Amino acid sequence: MVTATVPGQQVKIGPTQLLINNEWVESVSSRRFETINPATGEVICEVAEADAPDVDKAVQAARTAFNSGEWPKISATRRGELLHKLADLIEQNIDELARLETLDNGKPLHNSLGDLKLVIACYRYYAGWADKVQGKTIPINGPYFCYTRHEPVGVVGQIIPWNFPLLMQAWKLAPALATGNTVVMKTAEQTPLSALRVGELIVEAGFPPGVVNILSGYGPTAGAAIARHMDVDKVAFTGSTEVGHLIMEAAAKSNLKRVTLELGGKSPNIVFADADMDAAIAGSHDALFFNQGQCCCAGSRLFVEEKCYDEFVAKSVEQAKQRIVGNPFDANTAQGPQVDKDQFDKVMSYIESGMREGAQMLCGGNQVGEEGFFIAPTVFADVRDDMKIAQEEIFGPVMSIIKFKDIDEVIQRANSTMYGLAAAVWTKDITKAHAIANSVRAGTVWVNCYDVFDAAAPFGGFKQSGIGRELGEYGLQQYTEVKTVTIKL
Ligand code: NAD
Repeated sequence: MVTATVPGQQVKIGPTQLLINNEWVESVSSRRFETINPATGEVICEVAEADAPDVDKAVQAARTAFNSGEWPKISATRRGELLHKLADLIEQNIDELARLETLDNGKPLHNSLGDLKLVIACYRYYAGWADKVQGKTIPINGPYFCYTRHEPVGVVGQIIPWNFPLLMQAWKLAPALATGNTVVMKTAEQTPLSALRVGELIVEAGFPPGVVNILSGYGPTAGAAIARHMDVDKVAFTGSTEVGHLIMEAAAKSNLKRVTLELGGKSPNIVFADADMDAAIAGSHDALFFNQGQCCCAGSRLFVEEKCYDEFVAKSVEQAKQRIVGNPFDANTAQGPQVDKDQFDKVMSYIESGMREGAQMLCGGNQVGEEGFFIAPTVFADVRDDMKIAQEEIFGPVMSIIKFKDIDEVIQRANSTMYGLAAAVWTKDITKAHAIANSVRAGTVWVNCYDVFDAAAPFGGFKQSGIGRELGEYGLQQYTEVKTVTIKL
């Protein structure tokens, strides 16, 4: 058994090869790449590096499984049972998986466990759907019987990011498998390990060969090969808006594969003076700093009403200063490192730009410790809408607090962005809450709460935050084709 030793912990490392056709294989090129522990900057291990020839092999395995393997013969009920079995196996191995996630990603161990509860719930939720995906009978004109079938799209390419490796794997795999597709998944190069361990559990659960193939590798090589592949019927991508554009372009230039995208955000979090102030301050803190600020839906444009601005800023700074940053394996740690050196440098450059453009930095702004990629929780006040830190996705622990005067103004300002992923409002006035919920152009609006996720509730973006929805019943539509059958009577 390969293990990594971190202070006070032994972490078991699972497979480090590619999963193709239920076999663990090296890449065609035999190349491997290093995955790094972001808390120390040290190499954890090397994993096989997929490129286009490995994508070809995986797509072929997925195609064979879809067309002629055991998978098409398996009933919908059985697909549900397999997903339940996978959920059970993940639950049995929850501590091991959480430690692996924390080691590779840097998120606090209790957060990895929290993610895993959602992971298990997601597989179970879609397990329940497997035998409930139904078409309709349609009363068309003439002597005909007309009905629809909801069939799987086929071979699905799935490209996932590093901020919630296990959860993004579940959001993608569970609806695809429930509806009878086969999958070629590429994980993020920063965090390959936990998804591979789940791959082992997928084989153990009894999914037939070729149904799920998991490739570790880089975006411009393996990821791009999936996006342009002529035999991939759909690509589902989560990551940056920039790469989202590339995925769509590749789909357009190849075989018009279906595309769903879950991209970036710059989500407005709006606090009115009539809100429960303690709840709004604590909720806004979590909305921004959760997961080291590495959330696509982070409440990163924090609009606070003028009347309560000074109090809100002072208390938010106090709370940020108290946030415990450090070893993600410590139970008291609230914030671990950023995922890698690139993200660390990117966040630090946004902090510099905030200072340069005249925002007031009230705490943080510095690296914590000397090893790893830790950044002190940072709060900027007096942020203007035109500053870079108010416009671009920082993806780090940097809070930007912006002042507003009235509701019409804040709605207009909240909407002046290319993004539309999430939004929140804090108020005791139900009329204001509805006004915001109805007029903000975003896929999710939270009222007096933030980051409430449930496998049953759809999630996705308006505008350049994405195309399509994940989770819930809506998430199933993205993995099925509707077939109309008309029979002469
Ligand atoms: P990214 O978009 O480059 O990476 C996400 C996934 O896409 C990874 O698996 C990556 O390997 C793959 N990828 C990269 N280039 C590709 C290409 N040309 N073709 C196909 N796949 C490709 O994101 P990143 O570089 O890791 O992070 C950059 C920024 O993206 C972050 O700072 C953040 O703003 C944003 N981001 C958003 C999310 C989200 O959940 N929406 C997740 C991660 C990153």
